[in-house]
Amino acid sequence: MKKKVLISACLLGKNCRYDGLTKEIPEIAKEFRNCQIVPFCPENSVFGTPRQKISLVEIDGENCIISDESNEDVTKILTDDINSFITLNQDIQSLVLKSKSPSCGLGSTPILNKNKEVIKHGDGIAAKILKKHYKNILFQDEKAFL
Ligand code: SF4
Repeated sequence: MKKKVLISACLLGKNCRYDGLTKEIPEIAKEFRNCQIVPFCPENSVFGTPRQKISLVEIDGENCIISDESNEDVTKILTDDINSFITLNQDIQSLVLKSKSPSCGLGSTPILNKNKEVIKHGDGIAAKILKKHYKNILFQDEKAFL
């Protein structure tokens, strides 16, 4: 059975960024060519593409996902979608996520205060949930392949 690897879809060449562009890094698909690649993009799944930008904002000690333009708190809808993805994909054995994203970033995502100023960096909402679920497997971002 092939190893199952979750990869942020924008790194695979899918035009699923908020602006309809991609962040393809061909070396990643090449590295995992003998694996079963599972593309992952919670933002496209929930909001479609193109869409409003979102940001990770600390509110009362909690990290929330807030739409940049409408200021809507979309934390719950994204969380529910990510949890549904995990339910359907229990057997992931490795992950490669896109850095700095409010969803996928691994320790590299800017966390803002209510005034939208960067106060620190941390995990995006999806990275945080995925880490809680998939224990003892390798998490990397695209920087490992550059
Ligand atoms: Fe989708 Fe994650 Fe890429 Fe953003 S970083 S476009 S949420 S796969």
